[in-house]
Amino acid sequence: MNKPADLKLDTVPAWINGRPVVPQGRMGDVYNPATGKVTRHVPYCDAAAIDAAAKAAAAALPAWRDASILRRARVMQRFLALLQENQKQIAALITAEHGKTLPDAMGSVQRGIEVVEFVCGIPQLLKGEYSENVGTAVDTHTVRQPVGVCAGITPFNFPAMVPLWMFPVAIACGNTFILKPSEKVPSASIRMAELFKEAGLPDGVFNVVHGDKAAVDALLNHPLVNAISFVGSTPIAKYIYETCARNGKRVQALGGAKNHAVVLPDADLEFAADALIGAAYGSAGERCMAISAVVAVGAAGDLLVKLLEKKARKIVVGPGDREGVEMGPLVTAEHRAKVLGFVEKGISEKAKVVLDGRDAGIREGFFLGATLFDNVTRDMEVYKNEIFGPVLVVLRADSLEKAIQIINSNPYANGTAIFTESGGAARRFENEVQVGMVGINVPIPVPVAFYSFGGWKNSLFGDLHVHGVEGVKFYTRTKVVTTRWPHQDTPAPGLNMPTLG
Ligand code: NAD
Repeated sequence: MNKPADLKLDTVPAWINGRPVVPQGRMGDVYNPATGKVTRHVPYCDAAAIDAAAKAAAAALPAWRDASILRRARVMQRFLALLQENQKQIAALITAEHGKTLPDAMGSVQRGIEVVEFVCGIPQLLKGEYSENVGTAVDTHTVRQPVGVCAGITPFNFPAMVPLWMFPVAIACGNTFILKPSEKVPSASIRMAELFKEAGLPDGVFNVVHGDKAAVDALLNHPLVNAISFVGSTPIAKYIYETCARNGKRVQALGGAKNHAVVLPDADLEFAADALIGAAYGSAGERCMAISAVVAVGAAGDLLVKLLEKKARKIVVGPGDREGVEMGPLVTAEHRAKVLGFVEKGISEKAKVVLDGRDAGIREGFFLGATLFDNVTRDMEVYKNEIFGPVLVVLRADSLEKAIQIINSNPYANGTAIFTESGGAARRFENEVQVGMVGINVPIPVPVAFYSFGGWKNSLFGDLHVHGVEGVKFYTRTKVVTTRWPHQDTPAPGLNMPTLG
């Protein structure tokens, strides 16, 4: 492992056993999406580098899993304070590599920090159960023990928040961890590794490796890795789930989304339009909880589309670190081309173009403007696919029942929202819609850290959601212990099935 001598740009190192390292081999480019220029390089870890990380995590495991819960909690408290002190710096790294605006990046780091706040209460979260006299003089208790070496593979769109959904929970539970962040946005993870070490985390408990499929496959197939958390697109999530299941690893794999918002005619349409603009075009639509499809019911449709158009036209597009900018660029030239292709597809399949964002008027970087399509139907590609860009499609429905049918027949089921003044309609929606996270007059219903985040259907492969109580369950195994202390009156155990009565 050494640093190439001719390196002109910064290299983002991996982090193995408490130290920055630059494994030899393939290197990738990291861009500033606002300028379109390469700003850093990142090493793509091969199987040997992944093996080094797995061995470091396995070596650190025995001491960390047996460290007292209070000690683990205190490391988390110090990490929390350091994250808060460095929140602006981490947000700036995110804006420089992802492109989202600084206030948006700050908000996303804040949501990640809240997971660390949650796991500062790990002593309470790991308490077991105890029953006295389950049989005569027989007691039973449960303990939650760590799973072992865990790994997390994360997407480009939340460089700090999504990793923070995973590793603080796993580590607070007594596991050790290997993070493989998106190779497009590698720097925030390394900064968090430095801060975690400064907080007193022993070497080897948290490791960061970079790379693409080769690095991921090495993790999925490594015998020392016991559990994998994944967040990313649906085809890769499915692949991760199937490979881990075949390899006998515990797995949760969160996938892509097409999130619908239903707007009923009785809704406050001005409020709904403001909420939908933020939810559709915030972070340039690169959010797994972005609203990308609106189902306008009955008379709500025409006025809602007018309001959306008026507000979408006013969105200020530009570099994310510039004051007053509301929407930054897309993450890469390749992703911009993909989103542009969908806008062109929508035009060719005769969706009504209300606002055409193909030319953002900025010559450098990976910018697109906001696009709004109306009269979209379910057979159109702009509806069927997750576009993951600043493109909002409006479908029309004549009743709440039809709107719910549309949502329930979509293969994705991450988040959804309804806008209405009617408690009855909202209750029916909540009860009938087959989606993991539901908002009532809340456009992006991302649960707070002490609840769990996760979708249904093609938006999640596995059983347990991330963070909150389900996160603690994912990163622990329950052991049930039955105890008897015999004395002279205790009957001898016989050959029959004990009933303990
Ligand atoms: P992606 O699936 O391309 O990549 C995710 C991770 O998988 C990255 O670390 C990447 O290096 C790795 N990867 C890519 N191709 C791989 C392959 N062939 N084999 C193994 N690993 C591979 O996703 P992305 O483009 O980084 O992120 C956007 C996607 O993530 C969107 O679909 C979005 O909806 C989804 N997402 C989902 C959630 C959620 O909570 N459900 C949250 C954020 C993002």
